[in-house]
Amino acid sequence: MTSNRLLPWTPPYVAYFTLRLARITLKRLQSRWANVSKASILVTGGAGYIGSNTVQLLSLQGYDVTVVDNLSRGYRHNVDPDRLHEIDLAETQTLADLLKKRAIDAVIHFAAYIAVGESMKVPEAYFSNNVVGSLSLLTAMLLAGVKKIVFSSTAAVYGMPLQIPIKESAPYAPVSPYGESKVMVEKMLGWFDQIHALRSVSLRYFNASGADPAGHIGEEHEPETHLIPLIFRAIETGIPVTIFGTDYETADGTCIRDYIHVNDLAQAHILAVESLFAGGASGAYNVGTGVGYSVLEVIRAAEQITGKKIPFDIRPRREGDPPTLVADPTLLRSTFGWTSHYDLRDIVSTAWNFELKRKLARV
Ligand code: UDP
Repeated sequence: MTSNRLLPWTPPYVAYFTLRLARITLKRLQSRWANVSKASILVTGGAGYIGSNTVQLLSLQGYDVTVVDNLSRGYRHNVDPDRLHEIDLAETQTLADLLKKRAIDAVIHFAAYIAVGESMKVPEAYFSNNVVGSLSLLTAMLLAGVKKIVFSSTAAVYGMPLQIPIKESAPYAPVSPYGESKVMVEKMLGWFDQIHALRSVSLRYFNASGADPAGHIGEEHEPETHLIPLIFRAIETGIPVTIFGTDYETADGTCIRDYIHVNDLAQAHILAVESLFAGGASGAYNVGTGVGYSVLEVIRAAEQITGKKIPFDIRPRREGDPPTLVADPTLLRSTFGWTSHYDLRDIVSTAWNFELKRKLARV
């Protein structure tokens, strides 16, 4: 049972983040008001974690949004039912019909499987859903005459990069079928640009994390493999979170990652699609903050924010984990004027707020 009364333990950062989000949104609205054309955008995977946050931001900024999701990994509760079309990416003609019917101007394509470990066990599922599914979507776009797409790519296209921070010019060197599937789609997009003038922006995400500050949308993967939700699970269950390796060549021996707040990530998609509307060229961009944190630093930040001791144990390295992955986001900043508004503290605070709300909803 939930209550509308302010609960005595309601954290002050809920109010703080709501105000902050309102300020950021207002600023963005003011600077973009003149340009908002009410374009019609189709979001695939719009019931997932990053997709649904982007749908929320797109609608706030005046876009007409249609969502396609087969709900195999996304959640119905993340999407307004009026927007949702339960269609599989393999259904080329159905997608083409929808693109025409809704007079779609551009597509933002999130729908994909995302677990590196799973891709090492069932690569066929990753090539089928991520690569064949994307090809079906691109084919539908050609049938419907839609020539703009923003594609959800990943830092996994770089594999174990030699230079940190990573620039977009680093070579493709994926070390998993997941990373390879994203490389394959980026390459397809290159050919579709050249042959069909289908313009695309590929956004290579670093570690997407955090929740929308109102606490409605956050990380809910099943099975969960990501560090921050697993830290909260350790608080709830008392079962230690595992640190995979303390023998890396980093300051404290644990892996370093570039954690990027999901709303900053969502905003990058909006700027990217707007660049395509303005006639911008195709390209690929890193989306990260340029600042890295170790696993132990994330655990300490979570202890400070939650006020709880986090139990952890130490195990050997997880297969395929590079020691350090930090983006050079210069290109994204200089091309789109993008900047991140949330740091690690904000990421952990918003994610914790989401956890508390979920817990309350379960009571
Ligand atoms: N990690 C960890 N324990 C866990 C999950 C993750 O030590 O239970 C580490 C992982 O080795 C990596 C970092 O936390 O260095 C972030 O991992 P995550 O799975 O969240 O994202 P990834 O970097 O794999 O995309």
